[in-house]
Amino acid sequence: MQVPFVELKTQYAALQHEIEAAMTKVFAQSQFILGPEVEEFEQKFAAYCQVQHAIAVNSGTSALHLALIAAGIKPHDEVITVAMTFVATVAPILYCGAKPVLIDVNPITWNLDPSQLEDAITPRTKAIIPVHLHGLMADMGPIMKVANHHNITVIEDACQAHGATYQGKTAGSIGKINAFSFYPGKNLGAYGEGGAVVTQDSALAEEVRLLRNFGQAEKYHHILKGFNYRMETLQAAILSVKMKYIDQWIQQRIQVAQWYYERLTELPLQLPYRPTTDRHGFHVFAIRTSHREMIKQALANRGIATQIHYPTPVHLQAAYADLGYGKGSLPVSEQLAQEFLSLPLYPEMTETQVDYVCEQLQQIIAKQPTVV
Ligand SMILES: *Cc1c(COP(=O)(O)O)cnc(C)c1O
Repeated sequence: MQVPFVELKTQYAALQHEIEAAMTKVFAQSQFILGPEVEEFEQKFAAYCQVQHAIAVNSGTSALHLALIAAGIKPHDEVITVAMTFVATVAPILYCGAKPVLIDVNPITWNLDPSQLEDAITPRTKAIIPVHLHGLMADMGPIMKVANHHNITVIEDACQAHGATYQGKTAGSIGKINAFSFYPGKNLGAYGEGGAVVTQDSALAEEVRLLRNFGQAEKYHHILKGFNYRMETLQAAILSVKMKYIDQWIQQRIQVAQWYYERLTELPLQLPYRPTTDRHGFHVFAIRTSHREMIKQALANRGIATQIHYPTPVHLQAAYADLGYGKGSLPVSEQLAQEFLSLPLYPEMTETQVDYVCEQLQQIIAKQPTVV
């Protein structure tokens, strides 16, 4: 049996007629940038996130960049975030000329460790970006408490967490201004690049709306120095169709994860932290093992594709060496980077496939009695 890591074709096949009809409509109208479908999608996505405003942009990275600008981040300000994330969390801080201050994550949840915040805060700290890694929301209660106490803006990097909840609140509804990605493999994926900023704050929403389109209030009247971060109408039309199914797909992800939990609990592996009442979005199902390379190779030999999210934390990436964090500075993130292994997970994955992955994992581990 072959088990791919993710598989987008099955979903397209199921939606082909609906998506093609939506695309044909866009072609017929020929309003290819910020057409009416963009606003339609924004309304649907804002409602889904339980916020007043969603502003569609051309990537999750752009969404984070505009959220930071709207939050007032200026050169030499400090923004606290984690190193155990995709570089797109950190790059937009540098686009603002601000300084990323990287802290460690909790070894159980793998998310920002709120107990490390106080020590990282200085008079220059203007924002905190918790990342909802793999679709599990960061521990927002204590994060908001510390942030509010110091009057610091919280920006959720919800790029992996569509539909996840924390104490009943949806991802994107807790921070002041928050970012999502619609990269094709995300829980809600475009057929190209896409992202959104979501917020309850009308003034910030208006600023982001201007910034994504060169600060243009009316045609050729520019009141802010902005960017070309506009969403393409085709992507909005596709995303609008897909919005109808997002909860079904997340439920399917949760079901696949549930099959994994049932079959893997006996094995000497650390499984993802599972909130008891809240919803994990299961963008990624990662296990933690000190025998990662051996297991990854053995699974590959048996037709099972895996990935690593992420093999190198941001502070140890060559491009970010100038941030000045050496090896050993964020020990939990560094350890996780060596032990994470993401198993196949996508909504259309079958129980038979999960059975196969878990049987193979059991066999591989049984042959290696020292595996922990
Ligand atoms: C995907 C992702 C981003 C960036 O999104 P793009 O749409 O690829 O620009 C940012 N942060 C995290 C945690 C992500 O997973």
